[in-house]
Amino acid sequence: MENVSLKDYAAQGEEIRSFLYHLKQNQAPHAILISGPEGVGKRTLALLISQYMLCESGNPPCGECRACIQALKYEHPDQVLIRKGVPLSSEIKEGRATIPVEDIREMIRITGATPARGGKRTVIIHDAEAMTPQAQNALLKTLEEPPEGTCFLIVTSHPESILNTVTSRCARLHIHAWPYEYITRRLTERGTAKERAEAAADLAEGSVGRAIRLAEDEEYWKARDEVIHDFFFTTRRSETLNCSNRWKNRKGEADQMLGILESVVGHMISARFGGEKNRMESQLPPQWIRFSREASAEAVCALYDRITEARKELQYSVNFQAVTEQLLLSFIGEGNKWLQ
Ligand SMILES: [Zn+2]
Repeated sequence: MENVSLKDYAAQGEEIRSFLYHLKQNQAPHAILISGPEGVGKRTLALLISQYMLCESGNPPCGECRACIQALKYEHPDQVLIRKGVPLSSEIKEGRATIPVEDIREMIRITGATPARGGKRTVIIHDAEAMTPQAQNALLKTLEEPPEGTCFLIVTSHPESILNTVTSRCARLHIHAWPYEYITRRLTERGTAKERAEAAADLAEGSVGRAIRLAEDEEYWKARDEVIHDFFFTTRRSETLNCSNRWKNRKGEADQMLGILESVVGHMISARFGGEKNRMESQLPPQWIRFSREASAEAVCALYDRITEARKELQYSVNFQAVTEQLLLSFIGEGNKWLQ
């Protein structure tokens, strides 16, 4: 993730703020287990802590010194990266789905020697749940008698798959999905227009990285405008052929098209029945605003079900144009009930 600093993680809560305080006091624990859902910045946090430890300036992590730059590229001689599929030990084949004990043994060998730069050393383990039980037991022995000046950063989305004996030796940092408002603010600060920032934040499931990638995906926003235009702004049945014609050779985009419809209708459902503000309203014509405010639960859910049905029909490779046309007719039929 770009332009992220340790300070940004303070927004995650007291646990992290307390950790950052101790880090500054030079009292970081020797093993830290970083957990949380996919895409919330666990690896970035591990990297920032590693940079903090290895930085050669008086203001760690400065991001500019030789050590910070090397750490960022995972090229620092005193930063050991263990991840599945990319063996640390030359005895192991590439592409394995687990982290084998040989990798842990190799790490123990490396950390047993004096650090190349004479300072601290970090060991980062990505997808730590991929360690075999044997690997976890070997790691446990090291955590029980950690090498001097070494900090272990153990990153996982599945801490429940790691032996209790290992996790109990670690300080725990849990990264939560980032709040909608936080992601929106991050995007607008980077120059994303408000409306797009809100829509991207909605779809990002708490991941700032995913929101940024989505916000910058021009193809996606073009498709989204087109879907909203065709399905919500068309009122004449005579236009359906024209519309569906534009989609007929784009079966490859079917999934995206249905996903966009699901997100718009899903918004109506959560606004209507979950008490949330419908952030889509500004993008919809008056009849659909009325629909989303006044239609019965049955009507809103029926519309959602139509999208699900279309998805199923496409699995049996029914003609995409025909499916699109039927779906368009459902939307036009419902929307027109709310025209005034
Ligand atoms: Zn530095």
